Amino acid sequence: MTVMRVLGTAVLILAFSGHCFAKRVIIMIADGQGFNCIKAANMYKGNYTQADSFDMANVDWDVRLAMRTNSANNVLGYDPQAMWADFEWSKKHATDSSSAASAMFSGQKILNGQLNLSSQGQRLTTLFEQASKAGYATGVVTSVEISHATPAAAAAHNTSRNNFSEIANEMIYESGMDVIMGAGHPLYDNDAARAKANYDFVGGPRTWADITDSNGANGFKFIESKADFETLAAGKVSGAKYLGIAAVRETLQQKRKGSQVQDVNTATYNAHVPSLAAMSLAALNVLEQDKDGFALMIEGGAVDWANHANQKGRMIEEETAFMEAVARVARWIDKHGGWDQTLLIVSADHETGQLYGPVAGQFNEIITQGTGQVPLMNYNSTGHTNALVPLYAKGAGAKDFETAAIGIDKIRGKFVDNTSIYQIVLKLLILDDSKPKIKVASAP
Ligand SMILES: [Zn+2]
Repeated sequence: MTVMRVLGTAVLILAFSGHCFAKRVIIMIADGQGFNCIKAANMYKGNYTQADSFDMANVDWDVRLAMRTNSANNVLGYDPQAMWADFEWSKKHATDSSSAASAMFSGQKILNGQLNLSSQGQRLTTLFEQASKAGYATGVVTSVEISHATPAAAAAHNTSRNNFSEIANEMIYESGMDVIMGAGHPLYDNDAARAKANYDFVGGPRTWADITDSNGANGFKFIESKADFETLAAGKVSGAKYLGIAAVRETLQQKRKGSQVQDVNTATYNAHVPSLAAMSLAALNVLEQDKDGFALMIEGGAVDWANHANQKGRMIEEETAFMEAVARVARWIDKHGGWDQTLLIVSADHETGQLYGPVAGQFNEIITQGTGQVPLMNYNSTGHTNALVPLYAKGAGAKDFETAAIGIDKIRGKFVDNTSIYQIVLKLLILDDSKPKIKVASAP
């Protein structure tokens, strides 16, 4: 708890009195996840019960909405009429991941390819930075490189998302993050085998030397083995800050060798890397040590990559790994204080691959082939689209998304803008701080 959160809250308490607050916010983003990715994975898992059921991870969501994803490059936004009148429409004016994640985490539409810089070049403060300054613990977890667009947008500022080394250094030394976990290991390849060193994703050779020396970088305890992640996931925590780099280069599993197009679970998994679920639990157990609360972003980063490559099987693997992480996070919340002061948001930054049913070039339903079978479906793009993405929320303040809706889509229903994640989380964590001890502290 710091004084910063106390100052200036007296007026805000009046303005928002009656609203709930959150102590813990977990934002889970599957990169490139359209509605049909969830549907396909549910069909594969046998969870599919009715045409419009998206019962991801069997969580009893308080709200199920859609979300608009456009960046500052697209001033027209999303048009529900144009979307369903023209199959090609959504391929135009799509956002990229860095601008979409920046909108979610710093509340402003910015230009594609950039990280948390306004169109005028102004540095935007992310909600994770604000939460950190206000006394919360903060963290990012991803199944791709720690310095990739989505985790980078939670913790860094840059004119280009491709400046991985600069981004990693900002994340490690300046962002205030307490947990950074993901891939990007300099010494291993995509099959988790030793490889020629490449230090880009972890901030360069000097940073790597600092990370791995006996003191660690900037107070971070360093872990890299599957066993170390799983020890944390089991609740055996022995430090306040952890930097975990799984022993694999670009992503935990999606880029491993083997059949990459149709099959699911056929190519042997990389054995020496943790699952996204284990990493997520590890991060939760570390952050939970801060009794003030925490803000955590968890990304299933390779759903997007499988979609770009039109790999149906690998997409289902990545989507089910993400769903498993969502399910485990939800169970963790059940067992660690419940939902009264905890908000879980599950969404996507944009859709990738324009996945629909088996008839190419038109809107048609994907068709189940039964549990354990890849459904009949077809990719219609190798890029991003401007279609709406799903948004689920449960817990403290979840209903605020309902009131934040800006439009109605005839297929997807009510939708919010991606900047509403920033606004709602900021209000719950920092502005609308109506916790009893704050009220007492701010009373005249
Ligand atoms: Zn992408």
